[in-house]
Amino acid sequence: MKIDGTCHCGAITIEGEADPEKTAICHCTDCQTGTGSAFRVSVPVPGATFRMTGQPASYLKTTSDSGNPRVQAFCSKCGTPIYSTSPGEGVQPSYMVRVGILRQRDQFVPKRQIWFRSARPWVTGIDAIPKVQKHT
Ligand SMILES: [Zn+2]
Ligand SMILES: [Zn+2]
Repeated sequence: MKIDGTCHCGAITIEGEADPEKTAICHCTDCQTGTGSAFRVSVPVPGATFRMTGQPASYLKTTSDSGNPRVQAFCSKCGTPIYSTSPGEGVQPSYMVRVGILRQRDQFVPKRQIWFRSARPWVTGIDAIPKVQKHT
């Protein structure tokens, strides 16, 4: 399905095509650090469909859990993570787009959890944590 999204400050917008069935949670320690949170939710977008306005900042990082070098792109103004992809010049085969930036995020329900061995032990018990419907 067609997707579009924007970073928190609006400097970067993306669009493309993504299959909600491929939505995944990554619990690896790099995703914990890179999000400043417990895990990351992403979906692959083929490079042939991927369009972007604005210029993200990026860094190359060899992820400790997989050993693969990945380009991590984020908004240089607001810091929102945008995608990761393979290193190299020009359009890459696939972009792992961060689901939290998508306008259609409701339709991207994770179907798989990877690097679960690194998951924070509390993530499976999150439903038991007391809830408030708004921040108090
Ligand atoms: Zn931004
Ligand atoms: Zn990860």
